[in-house]
Amino acid sequence: MQAAEITAPEKAHVVEVEKPAPGPGEALIEVAAAGVCGTDLHIFHGEYEATYPIIPGHEFSGTVVAVGEGVTRYQPGDRVTVDPNIPCNRCPACQRNAPNQCENLAAVGVTRAGAFAQYVVAPEGNIFPIGDMSFAAAALVEPLACVVWGLKRVQVQPGDSALIFGAGPMGCLLLQAVKHAGAARVIVTDIAPYRLEQAAALGATETILADDRQEQRLKALAPGGYDVVVEATGLPHVLEQAFSYARARGKIWVFGVCPRDARASFVPYDVFRKDLSIIGSFAVSRTFHESIALIQGGAVRVEPLISHRLPLSQFVAGLDLAERDPKRMKVQFAIS
Ligand SMILES: [Zn+2]
Ligand SMILES: [Zn+2]
Repeated sequence: MQAAEITAPEKAHVVEVEKPAPGPGEALIEVAAAGVCGTDLHIFHGEYEATYPIIPGHEFSGTVVAVGEGVTRYQPGDRVTVDPNIPCNRCPACQRNAPNQCENLAAVGVTRAGAFAQYVVAPEGNIFPIGDMSFAAAALVEPLACVVWGLKRVQVQPGDSALIFGAGPMGCLLLQAVKHAGAARVIVTDIAPYRLEQAAALGATETILADDRQEQRLKALAPGGYDVVVEATGLPHVLEQAFSYARARGKIWVFGVCPRDARASFVPYDVFRKDLSIIGSFAVSRTFHESIALIQGGAVRVEPLISHRLPLSQFVAGLDLAERDPKRMKVQFAIS
């Protein structure tokens, strides 16, 4: 089969490899669509805990074509997506029902072969049926499931005002999910006008360009501050700014992935005096069901977020697009 392999940092090729076979309790899936995520770029640049060589790709959809011994819930022809995270189910974090904090977390496309390939193998318990959802949409269930996990932690309240830093694919999922969770006003800010147009089309109450009038305009829209401030850029200096926009009793949601060794400073007195909450959310914690339901029910629109669809043969060009194109949103490979 054809697969995109990263053999070492900065080295990727599309190669012919042996088609995998499903082991006991696993299914073989013919990949239809697979999206590029920041994690894939980090793996490409050697900034993430991956084992090389690796076939990346963890946001995907496809059709079951074979099942291993003991698999009862799926059969060839089923249209599915996959929760890539495979917790060990025996460490203290797993025992405390925190599978995303598993000490031995494995993941399709990070620690084992992923979906930038014609076929991928996944454990039965990680597979979810997608009904008649398009394969392109179903490849966005995973990123939305990350948003859903954070939403459960942040607990947006009816009537809340929210400010989101970052209008990329994640910012646009966050915007829709936060609104659906009850926020009355969702303001989105970004340096890229193209991305702000997407956020406006997907229901942002206001979009604000991050220029030298950004602070004045954001503060004018919510003189008392915002109930929820979401950092979705992964830039430490943006997180630092986020504090000054939170209302008393506001919540600061750390969603963007800052570099591992980055530092950001804040004023502890303000956190104390204003009853602020700083809430992180990491990946997915058994939130695929909710994510699928939000897409199927029409609460979150994902297809407008796909800006590029490429064949797998253009893998390296696709990574480059996902990193640099000024009009990029989600880049997907259309595989079968
Ligand atoms: Zn991802
Ligand atoms: Zn574990």
